[in-house]
Amino acid sequence: MIDRLPSSTEVCIVGAGPSGLACALGLAAHKIPFVIVDALEAGHNSSRAVLVQASALEALGTLHPQLPEELISAGIQSKTLTTIDLQERLVFRLRMTDIAAYTKYAFSLLIPQHKVEHQMREYVRGGGNSIHWGKRATDVKEVVEGSQYELRFESGEVLTARYVVAADGSKSFLRAFAGIRFIDPYTKEAGPGKNDLSFVVADVLFASPLPTNVPRDGLQMMIGAGGVVLTAPMRGEGSDGAPQNNNLFRLYLGVPDTPPRSPDAAYLQAILDARGPGSHSKLHPVPHITKVLDSSRYRTRPALVDRYVHRAKGGAYILLVGDSAHRHGPAGGQGMNMGICEGVELAQVINEHHRSAFDAEKSGTTHDAVQIMDAYSTHRRSVAAQVIDLVESMTQVEKGGRGWGPYFRVTALWAIFKVPFVNGVLAWKISGLGHAKKA
Ligand SMILES: Cc1cc2nc3c(=O)[nH]c(=O)nc-3n(C[C@H](O)[C@H](O)[C@H](O)COP(=O)(O)OP(=O)(O)OC[C@H]3O[C@@H](n4cnc5c(N)ncnc54)[C@H](O)[C@@H]3O)c2cc1C
Repeated sequence: MIDRLPSSTEVCIVGAGPSGLACALGLAAHKIPFVIVDALEAGHNSSRAVLVQASALEALGTLHPQLPEELISAGIQSKTLTTIDLQERLVFRLRMTDIAAYTKYAFSLLIPQHKVEHQMREYVRGGGNSIHWGKRATDVKEVVEGSQYELRFESGEVLTARYVVAADGSKSFLRAFAGIRFIDPYTKEAGPGKNDLSFVVADVLFASPLPTNVPRDGLQMMIGAGGVVLTAPMRGEGSDGAPQNNNLFRLYLGVPDTPPRSPDAAYLQAILDARGPGSHSKLHPVPHITKVLDSSRYRTRPALVDRYVHRAKGGAYILLVGDSAHRHGPAGGQGMNMGICEGVELAQVINEHHRSAFDAEKSGTTHDAVQIMDAYSTHRRSVAAQVIDLVESMTQVEKGGRGWGPYFRVTALWAIFKVPFVNGVLAWKISGLGHAKKA
């Protein structure tokens, strides 16, 4: 059956990644008509995020209480995030359980991004909304004196909408159309910089028996030479699709130079042998990779938009959400998490604006309606700036390296984590719970 887009809608969400899907779930809950499109022929399936934090689970739970529970049953609850040095001495063990007074999700959930998206898509469809795949938006312009946007698609279709949600990722064409700057918040540069971070992400199976220095119940980061070696256990699936534990891990490996596009077992094993668990200790062997299920390389640098909102003169809006508004490294597992929280918040904001804009049009007080959008922009930009700071400081620790600087940094961390308050503050920051919009 040919999938045809309608010619108009209230909200068009461009991008069906986690941020767009979260916004779709929110709009469905508020009963606002929307259309969600994506250029891909089907959902993502590449190795990217693996950590979901409490704030995203809380946000999704406000829409569908069962959804976080389903994600939890398909993942592994990492109650601690352990950091060790090359000699396998404990640098610190972050206890996520310290946030138990504020959430029932006092852990980081280890689950691959494609499973999170899959489950979110099920709920979008369950609400009677379809996702239009294979629809690449190629052009946008203001119409009806700026009270609508007209989107053109590669398929030749045309769709008008009052609100266009730019959930189209870090290369967002809608951001470019709106003339919104996307720059490194530290150097103020837009292009690649000398501090760009290179890393490899790979899903691998380790041979049995798994050495005991590779925990199967939580995340472990090894720091100290040439980049982080992070092991994240994942729940494998049996042939019947039921969750099961085998030695399935996602690896994040910081690399100083340009890795191959799709690193193979030999490349990955060489890194583990040089600076992975067991590499500098006589107590345990280095885990042995038996199979690489997926692998890719990434290069990233921080970037943040100067605003999240673009208003056409007639009151149509382009609204940024997720990676179209911010970009940073994978440390602390923050990107998808923030995108999901933003998507849910944006749906609330559109709902509020949608209602008040009708009232404002009647009474001529458009100012209040504009303020709702400005508040979204200010709040989310401030949260994203804080998260980028957090990620950057964690990245400095992860980078490691040789010499006195990294040595002192690690020693300082070891000492500072002896103070219980520090653990609580970092767990709270990583959870993202403090970023919810104040009512
Ligand atoms: C290696 C790596 C590890 C990461 N680890 C974590 C982690 O552990 N935890 C975490 O929270 N985050 C993590 N992240 C970040 C996370 O993957 C992203 O933040 C997240 O995918 C952002 O979601 P999004 O929906 O905003 O954008 P995306 O996932 O990029 O989705 C954008 C969608 O828009 C579509 N699109 C783009 N242009 C168009 C167009 N013109 N027309 C139609 N559709 C279009 C694309 O096809 C895509 O499906 C990681 C990222 C990387 C690279």
